[in-house]
Amino acid sequence: MSSIYVHVPFCLNKCPYCAFESGDRFSDDELNFEYERIKIDMLYASKLRPKAETVYFGGGTPPVIGISRLTGLIRYAYETFEIPEGAEVTCEVNPKTVNRDFLTRMKEAGFNRLSIGVQSLNEDMLKTLGRIHSAEDAVKCVSDGRKAGFDNISCDLMFALPNQTVQMVEADVRRMLELQPDHISLYPLSIEHGTMFYARKVQKPDENTEYAMYKLICRMLKEAGYIHYEVSNYCLPGKESRHNINYWRGGEYIGCGRGSHSYAAGYRFNYTGYMEQITEEEAESERIMLGLRLAEGIPMEAEKVKRVRKYIDHGYAEYKNGILSLTEDGFWISNAIIGEVLA
Ligand code: SF4
Repeated sequence: MSSIYVHVPFCLNKCPYCAFESGDRFSDDELNFEYERIKIDMLYASKLRPKAETVYFGGGTPPVIGISRLTGLIRYAYETFEIPEGAEVTCEVNPKTVNRDFLTRMKEAGFNRLSIGVQSLNEDMLKTLGRIHSAEDAVKCVSDGRKAGFDNISCDLMFALPNQTVQMVEADVRRMLELQPDHISLYPLSIEHGTMFYARKVQKPDENTEYAMYKLICRMLKEAGYIHYEVSNYCLPGKESRHNINYWRGGEYIGCGRGSHSYAAGYRFNYTGYMEQITEEEAESERIMLGLRLAEGIPMEAEKVKRVRKYIDHGYAEYKNGILSLTEDGFWISNAIIGEVLA
């Protein structure tokens, strides 16, 4: 299976925790330049892989380029690639950058899934995160998305934020569940090198509190019928992100636009001209690193599994019918477990 990722590296305002390739200072000329560059990348990508079973516009904040360019790009993708009926075609949006009319035009142009950067439904937390939207904007965005005809909506939610308590997380999840998203991506705040939060030495809640938040979220989402199908992702039955599943299962993807990366035909490459052939050993490490993120786990020989026996004995992992998979607690320490499998 092959996927297309379109990276739009523009935002209205740079969030102080963000380490993604995106900037908030750009001219109309730059938007036009990037628009043309993405189309050229799509054309080249279509020669390498003519069929795209999933398409994902991320960033950055794709709607920032304006509705004409955004719909122009998705229409060009449909013209350039063979995108089968029922393909998953996602666009990330920030609640402040779209309204019902904008979303309706996106839907008409061919997007069928929204990924909304809600992050929190608490005004103080949104201010701490430097977000440009309010909780009310986020609620309205989900409602506008439904009215525009989107029946597949994912919401991002963050936790372990500065000065956040377990009770605040509970209230956030409760409000999020009222929105009835089909999919929820849930991330603890990570203080990344090079961000404003890093420079300001922003403090997160301690490890025990963060773990208590994680367990509470897992319980609440499970009770509401969501499946914890990947380390950071939960969905209603049948609403897994097919684009990301392809990535975690080691499928091919081709990136278009500045800041994107690609993996196809056994090579990893990106927009800077970097290109590297993936050795069998590297491919196997990737299979383990990415595959163990999924609840379905990965096939593994019993001999290799001995390295993580202690995690299985303590309930962090399971080994059944030749498949090694992580449990809910295992997801929490997935980096440590994957590190030992690879050691
Ligand atoms: S909106 Fe998203 S991509 Fe843009 S700065 Fe904020 S976190 Fe980064």
